[in-house]
Amino acid sequence: GFPARSVFKLQEAQKKYGLIRPGDRVLDLGCAPGAWSKYALKIVGPEGLVVGVDLQEVKLSAPNFVFVKADVFELDPEELRKLAPGGFQVVLSDLAPKTTGDRSGDHFRSLHLARRALEVAREVLHPGGHFMVKIFEGERTAAFRKEVEGLFQRVKFFRPKSTRSTSREIFILGFDKRQNYLKKRG
Ligand code: SAM
Repeated sequence: GFPARSVFKLQEAQKKYGLIRPGDRVLDLGCAPGAWSKYALKIVGPEGLVVGVDLQEVKLSAPNFVFVKADVFELDPEELRKLAPGGFQVVLSDLAPKTTGDRSGDHFRSLHLARRALEVAREVLHPGGHFMVKIFEGERTAAFRKEVEGLFQRVKFFRPKSTRSTSREIFILGFDKRQNYLKKRG
């Protein structure tokens, strides 16, 4: 079995949109305990690669899985590029703060992580590559979606059926990373 229920969310997105393809190199941000990575490994197969990043350890070992124990804010995109020469075809982020019940606070903390995921995707994702990122919904959801639209040709909200009905979690999917995009100012 998979180590976390969260895998159903990625599975649903995969079944609906086919984000990941055999042979892809996938970056999985916030990968612990490892369910998404394990599922992605199954899809990419022996020719592919999954690189997972988390503060927490993962108990997953496979010949084409590389685990980087790090804070995403301290990740050096250059190091990631060395792990996947030629870049990644897919960047996933299930990064989440510890929720506190303070909806607005949880929203802003999740956005901070999601924005970092977008920044990393900007650096390491191939043109034409895809992106899936989790946020806890709130007042800046639409603004963040706009930021994602700056980097991808097609953007969608995705709320998995497997998300608890009380959860404010939603995913933003970005398809086909643009070749040319406006660099963030400042
Ligand atoms: N997708 C995972 C799976 O299927 O097993 C579950 C991910 S869990 C919902 C969110 C993860 O984000 C946690 O493991 C947490 O440690 C990680 N995380 C939160 N903030 C982080 C940060 N700044 N750097 C790295 N990982 C972080």
